[in-house]
Amino acid sequence: MIPQQESDFNLNHLKLYYGKLFPFADLCRWVSYGNDANHPGCDQSYMGRREFSFTLVDDIYLRFQSFNNVHELENSVKEKSPVKIDIGPVYSVDPAKRYAYAQSENNVFTPVERELIFDIDMTDYDDVRYCCSGADVCLVCWPLMTIAIKVIDTALRDDFGFKHVLWVYSGRRGVHCWVCDGKARRLSNEQRGAIADYFRVYKGNENSHKKVSLTGAALHPFLATSYTNVLKDYFEKNLLTGQNLLATEERYEKILSMIPDESIASELRGRWQDGRRSSSAKEDINVVRWEQLKQLLQSGKHKAQGLRRCVEEIVFCFTYPRLDMEVSKHMNHLLKAPFCVHPKTGRVCVPIDPSRCDEFDPTTVPTLSQLIEELNYESSRSDVDGELNRTSLGNAITLFRSSFLQPLLKACKSCLEVTSIDTIKRWNVHSTVELSRSILTLIFSYNCNRSSGERKELA
Ligand SMILES: [Zn+2]
Repeated sequence: MIPQQESDFNLNHLKLYYGKLFPFADLCRWVSYGNDANHPGCDQSYMGRREFSFTLVDDIYLRFQSFNNVHELENSVKEKSPVKIDIGPVYSVDPAKRYAYAQSENNVFTPVERELIFDIDMTDYDDVRYCCSGADVCLVCWPLMTIAIKVIDTALRDDFGFKHVLWVYSGRRGVHCWVCDGKARRLSNEQRGAIADYFRVYKGNENSHKKVSLTGAALHPFLATSYTNVLKDYFEKNLLTGQNLLATEERYEKILSMIPDESIASELRGRWQDGRRSSSAKEDINVVRWEQLKQLLQSGKHKAQGLRRCVEEIVFCFTYPRLDMEVSKHMNHLLKAPFCVHPKTGRVCVPIDPSRCDEFDPTTVPTLSQLIEELNYESSRSDVDGELNRTSLGNAITLFRSSFLQPLLKACKSCLEVTSIDTIKRWNVHSTVELSRSILTLIFSYNCNRSSGERKELA
């Protein structure tokens, strides 16, 4: 289990971390999206219109910080040693000068670009995990995050066509996702809401038994693929036994309450109350009971669609990603920057490779004190990359560069080149952008309706 509080997190260590290890240059190259060179097509004001927010010790918040380049950011962070750095949207004007602009009529202070972000927090799964609760996570419940990464990453790439998706460990109990494609950064709040709704099947609250409602003649292809490729396997091979989902009366009653047919529920209840006395020690009781439940609900005797669907609903309820929708819907939401150190656990917010997310182990993520120890162990070389590579942070930064930053900047560069060639045809480019946005909106509203079973044809 990851302890809630690492006693030796201290400001001196944090200062050393910012001084020697924090990848300022990589972070700035990312959030500049190519607008940091003397390229003819680049927007020199871009970086300076991005909001950074610092949290200092004793919960002092510094909102609307802005920096024109990596040196300004680095100097400010080293001077203030924030315990948390958040990244906000790119505004129409420099957020630090928002009051000055408010005086003039032409410059409205409003967010104009923001990565599409997702925040998944283990505390939202407290009713489906029995190993720990609240801020704690362990290797028994972490697969819930692995499932979320697999399901959402696949949909973002396959269903929406996004390519530049960054996954980051939040440092304690969850994961963050940054979708950085140009078309994602320019989505309106409404379009963000439509994408968030695309992922929604969880409609319950703490007190309702049925947290998932799958309606319609067939599952939407996205939900069907998620179920077949990810959810079913993780439920049956991992969570069912790992969380002992059917081992005790209290736990199986929770699942029985999701079965709409009372006669089936009571038949299973009767078997399981007897089974407790006569079960063989050889087979896992959760597996035995799950097979019995499936057999009854999916047998020829109970062909009613609602009952067959019930097995899927139970699996969705215990495995399907639970997103903090509000974070995704609004451009001006802040999200913690990668490579921050979580002040409670001391763990660094390292990137997660979505293609190998089942190998990610939150209990082995480098901590601040561990990194400082590694730095002190051999302090002969002074170049930054040398320092990095000697610590356990090296792999995390290599992953950030090779799997995310380099492909992203390559795409940004070719995009800027196209823009500068096309300056004469600005009107055409403009109308093309508007057209593709309208098409996106159409597709999103189409997809949005899929969970209610409606199949609207695109005209
Ligand atoms: Zn746990």
